[in-house]
Amino acid sequence: MISVAVDEGKCCGAGTCVMHAPDVFDQRDDDGIVILLDAQPSQELHAAVREAASTCPALAIAVTEEP
Ligand code: SF4
Repeated sequence: MISVAVDEGKCCGAGTCVMHAPDVFDQRDDDGIVILLDAQPSQELHAAVREAASTCPALAIAVTEEP
């Protein structure tokens, strides 16, 4: 299992995360800041979530491996 956390203060609204994993991330309509839809995404989404975290230009996504 993985846990996902986002730091709205770091997010610059680039939207890369939404492109990679639209079931896990969304963006606020007014300013584009990230919205976390699913903090514990299912197995089939893990690769996309890791890709989103590694490509976020603001390093605003943290992925924690849970035992
Ligand atoms: S990729 Fe990073 S900076 Fe861009 S919207 Fe997502 S969390 Fe924010």
